[in-house]
Amino acid sequence: MTDRIVSGSVWLTIVFSILSRLSIMSSVVIDFHTHIFPPWLRERRDEYIKCDPCFSLLYSRPEARMATAEELLASMDEAGIDVSVALNVGWVSHELCVRTNDYILDSVSRYPARLVGFCAVQPKAGDAAIAELERCAEAGAEGIGELRSDAQGFDLTDESTMKPLIDAALKHNLIFLTHSTEPVGHEYSGKGSITPDILYSFITGFPDLKLVCAHWGGGLPFYALMPEVDKALANVFFDTAATVFLYQPQIFTQVSSIIGSDKILFGTDYPLMHQNRVIAQIRSSGLCEEDRVKILGANARKLLRLDERSRNVA
Ligand SMILES: [Zn+2]
Repeated sequence: MTDRIVSGSVWLTIVFSILSRLSIMSSVVIDFHTHIFPPWLRERRDEYIKCDPCFSLLYSRPEARMATAEELLASMDEAGIDVSVALNVGWVSHELCVRTNDYILDSVSRYPARLVGFCAVQPKAGDAAIAELERCAEAGAEGIGELRSDAQGFDLTDESTMKPLIDAALKHNLIFLTHSTEPVGHEYSGKGSITPDILYSFITGFPDLKLVCAHWGGGLPFYALMPEVDKALANVFFDTAATVFLYQPQIFTQVSSIIGSDKILFGTDYPLMHQNRVIAQIRSSGLCEEDRVKILGANARKLLRLDERSRNVA
């Protein structure tokens, strides 16, 4: 599989550099927050709901959709999305992290020009979690996520658990992506408890880590009006996943005015919703053309180093 990944990543780099030179990538669209699952898992969904509490939290409701890589690609084509970040979820079971990571890594190797992979770890697995992070990095993953410290049962701010993992992530240039929770507002399935205060402690504890806080960081960007918070967010980005369910469209212009549009990454949470809904929301949000281009893909392209990167593969 490694040869396929190497040739795939080289191809992705070549495609992006040619398109960049032709200046037709100015409006590249990158969805930073999607989830895919292997067909074998979806077929035995009920069984895994019984054995993994995080999976149960997210997928007990029959209307919570699950998609394969091929279904994601078909939906991307309909919505005009060039590249998606395919995330795993925060499995409680280390073994299920590994088995589903295999599917993410295989999907990326099959569609290297369309998918970027983020894998799951269970930090409580200790050395096994670090070994899994390293295996994923060597097989072409670009990040770890979507972490769910609340459901996975670990403490993001506990240095003894997190430091060895973060050190390994920094060594392999991996990005972390964590679920985030609004401390106020309506309840919804999977809302959780990873609120801005917890995220802020994690961020200040590991300032060098490139971190994406999903779902607008549960409102953390609003605290960037405090100068020390703004400073602490130097390596932090915020995705827009599930905005349709959470905020009015003016969040795009409001947060851009506080932390800058460079820090916002378009993300949908597909297949929770079709990508078209979030794109339509962005187009009607009143953002200027420059900010819209950045949020829809230019920021992600830079963060993922899609132009110049040659992936760290063995
Ligand atoms: Zn989430």
